[in-house]
Amino acid sequence: MSSNLVIVYHRQPYEEVEVDGKIEYRENKSPNGIVPTLKSFFGRFEKGAWVAWKEAEDPANPEFERVIEIEDQYGRYNVSRLPLTKEQVSSFYHISSKEAFWPILHGFKERYNYDPVDWPTFREVNWNFAEAAAAEAAEGAVVWVHDYNLWLVPGYLRRLRPDVKISFFHHTPFPSADMFNVLPWRKEILESLLACDVVGFHIPRYVNNFVSAARSLLEVEVEKREKVSPDLASQISALSEQSVATELAYEGRKIYLQASPVGVDVDYIEKVAATEETATRAKEIKEELGDAQLVLSVGRTDYTKGGAAQLQSFERLLESHPKLVGKVRLLHVSVAANRNMVAYEEIQNDLEQVAGKINGRFGSLDWQPIALVSRAIPFTELVAYYHAADVAWITPLADGMNLVCKEYCAARTDGDGVLVLSEFAGAVVELESAVITNPFSHRSMDSAILHALGMEEEERRTRMEAMRRMVRKHDIRFWAEDQMKALGDWEKTGDAAK
Ligand code: UDP
Repeated sequence: MSSNLVIVYHRQPYEEVEVDGKIEYRENKSPNGIVPTLKSFFGRFEKGAWVAWKEAEDPANPEFERVIEIEDQYGRYNVSRLPLTKEQVSSFYHISSKEAFWPILHGFKERYNYDPVDWPTFREVNWNFAEAAAAEAAEGAVVWVHDYNLWLVPGYLRRLRPDVKISFFHHTPFPSADMFNVLPWRKEILESLLACDVVGFHIPRYVNNFVSAARSLLEVEVEKREKVSPDLASQISALSEQSVATELAYEGRKIYLQASPVGVDVDYIEKVAATEETATRAKEIKEELGDAQLVLSVGRTDYTKGGAAQLQSFERLLESHPKLVGKVRLLHVSVAANRNMVAYEEIQNDLEQVAGKINGRFGSLDWQPIALVSRAIPFTELVAYYHAADVAWITPLADGMNLVCKEYCAARTDGDGVLVLSEFAGAVVELESAVITNPFSHRSMDSAILHALGMEEEERRTRMEAMRRMVRKHDIRFWAEDQMKALGDWEKTGDAAK
């Protein structure tokens, strides 16, 4: 019970490497930079702790130390490793979170699978996380919980430790009440989130959705609210200066909701973009393409990422514009992250089949229109592809934020390149200068990619300049500051938190 900041995030903040029979803890090269950013908060507090899970055969008697102390560039902090069995991990993470919550969060009711959810195990694991956080937190500490797989932690923690300040960041979309209320555990989840002092979301729409879901089930009062019009343009201008806040009152407490989009580490990406290696690799990629344009699509293999719709649009493009055959190449990176999950394997197979068909139809001995890559490309190499790509084609059907599109802009230090972006990626709220498309509409998808491929340099540069300005302004540090401000603001309202 000694940490002033406790971060509760299911992943561990380091990689364990065995060197000469001894375990060493190394900085993990997390490409999207969220782990280092979270750790950087430790520097602002006297003592920090991180709670994550680690697989154990017998959680009552784990074969590793429960709490270790790490010392790295971020200072000294405890890492509390919650021992969970393989079955617990599978139940709470793969089944409940990925098969039941994930589709609902992203608006895919038809993919929602209720039957295998073992709610008591989900509760139990969340309770264990809450207990581990309670054991680490000093009197009045800040406990910062991350993401939907830990939805119940705030409620349990409030019971265990009424003195602590609880902040929660929701990294996925938050759906409308009609969608969210499909979950039979909806009330319990909302009540837990309303035990927080601060709940953060990426964009104003998710805040609004949360408010409407809460009001549909519970006696929640809206105390203060910045007006956010449902039309996109005013969401953009509302966000460009400051994040949007709403204050709720529930059972005598105040809950501060904030929209604050996660950004990328622009300094780091620009540094990688400026290296000799990146320049050489980007040149090689360009040389290989000859006079053909490169369209780049990067994402995890997930039905939310809209890979199949994209390949179909590419097929229609080659079909309707035969002159483009041999003149445009699609590099489709679809990283198969969740192995052993049937839904994801099916998507991977579909992508391979469709890409194979298109290559068979339009390819030749020395030319394939699509290169499909299913392994993860190391981030430094990805930056070379960002640099070489004429178009980044990022068209998820639903995405909480999407960092790839921001990384693409950050990597384009040359000021060129076109971004085609789905209107259903959270990032669109900031990147209004992208070519915005609706991935559910063939016409919109087809005209957007055509527009991107034929865009004049002046227009490309104007759009990219605006996007780079926004990505730099709303970088990962901006987000971190915003989180701190929310904690501070609410600290001013003091007793409301208790
Ligand atoms: N990424 C990577 N190599 C790849 C594909 C993706 O390093 O081959 C990284 C990418 O740079 C980005 C992250 O994975 O930082 C994906 O984040 P995003 O928010 O776009 O999607 P998520 O997977 O979180 O839904």
